Amino acid sequence: MHISDVRKFLRCPRLYQYSLKDNQKSFPYFNININVDESIVDKLRIDNYYLGRVNEDNDNTAEALKEHEWLLRARFTYRGLRCRVPYLYHKDSHCDLYFSSYSVNPTDGEADNIMWTAAVVEKNGLTVDNVYIIYPNKEYERSGELDHDALWNITDHFFNGNGHLTKHILTYIRNKDFDIDGVLDILLHFDSGFEEEAVRTSKCAGRNKCPYYEKCFPEESRVPDNSILTLMGSQYKYEMYRSGIRYLRDVNTDKFEGSQQQFAQIMADRQGGRFFDKLALSDWLKNYSGYPMSFIDFEWDLYLVPPYDGMHPLDVNLFQYSLHIMDEDGTVTHRQFIGERDCREEFLKRMIEDIPDEGVIFAYNARGAEILRLRELQRYFPQYSDRLEGIISRFVDLALPFVNGVVYDVRMRGMYSLKVIQEMLDDQRSYHDLAVENGLDAVAIHRLLEQCDDPEKKKQYYEDLYEYCGLDSYAMIEVYNWLISLI
Ligand code: SF4
Repeated sequence: MHISDVRKFLRCPRLYQYSLKDNQKSFPYFNININVDESIVDKLRIDNYYLGRVNEDNDNTAEALKEHEWLLRARFTYRGLRCRVPYLYHKDSHCDLYFSSYSVNPTDGEADNIMWTAAVVEKNGLTVDNVYIIYPNKEYERSGELDHDALWNITDHFFNGNGHLTKHILTYIRNKDFDIDGVLDILLHFDSGFEEEAVRTSKCAGRNKCPYYEKCFPEESRVPDNSILTLMGSQYKYEMYRSGIRYLRDVNTDKFEGSQQQFAQIMADRQGGRFFDKLALSDWLKNYSGYPMSFIDFEWDLYLVPPYDGMHPLDVNLFQYSLHIMDEDGTVTHRQFIGERDCREEFLKRMIEDIPDEGVIFAYNARGAEILRLRELQRYFPQYSDRLEGIISRFVDLALPFVNGVVYDVRMRGMYSLKVIQEMLDDQRSYHDLAVENGLDAVAIHRLLEQCDDPEKKKQYYEDLYEYCGLDSYAMIEVYNWLISLI
């Protein structure tokens, strides 16, 4: 049993049960492009250390502690609970623990893991004197060889949500109400073969949605499109559902938070399934009516460590775009690009060549994605800054009519991603028919592509990526035409 198991159990026993039967490995969101241990050893200036191995027990660790001041990945066990300390420094029976974080502002969200690890270490006879977190230094800009010292920061405090250092880590975990033996007593006697009944709590959904949500509440995927359960951002929808309110049109006005999106949803149900504010929509579209019209979508990978000059930790590397251009007579042309490794400048040059010199450029969620990426390119290549500024000024976010509650169709079922809307409009083409179904799949395929020596396989990877990103930019034309057809 690992600390992650205990944390799952404490979040929800049912989640713990499901996870025991589920061997799915999660996809590494960050591209971890270096050996992190070696880099941190360099940062901490450790010359001599013991490297723990999988399945080692307390005896191996005790022996290692006799011989070495520094232990990497040291394994400790207490009453069947196993933990691994990323980096441990000790003198006699006192030690400091070092954890690594991939966040540039590690917060007390990391406290539980640290608290449990420190408790298991102390149950093995060591006293923890201090706890540190080693995290990427966002100020570091790569130039030539990686500078491991500058790449990482070390802190003994957590950051708050505003990026300020606040709570001393060791003091914070010592002050938490925590009884390791009490929890282990319950867990060790828990019958993991018995499925607890699913009870919806704040831990099921929200910012960090439980991966087993659909398994626990399958009835939700079967509710009609206009169900009250599709009401976006509503904290009362379950309460209303339990009280017998089944449809958006019957919303209890006391429990209606009043967002534009909720208003659009309720009106859509009251008007037979669709709502649009004709005046607002036509005004908005009128601003962007010149031709040619461009529809563009980018794909990128997120790197823990800057792989190329000018980049910072947790910067992204753009590797693909798909651009559909629509002329006044309805003719559509398609241009696209996929690059490998440091293709930033090539991406930029090709995009500048491909994008028409005039006309609006639509992207979906442009502000949070494409425009940010172009700003990064401006920073890497200031010589293209003016050209890019001109392009950025023509970007328009096609998601805005949906985000602002100007348009809603109950078939969207409380969502407004490009995929959801595309699949609502076009039942002939679906992301589910593609080898690459979403952005994470695209990143995974691109990572494989970069390592692939087999030309046939590589060709297939390219085709899969072209098909996926091409559907994204084409879907925007379908969405745009639909909006026009509404008015
Ligand atoms: S969805 Fe809720 S009840 Fe189901 S496993 Fe997750 S947290 Fe537990």
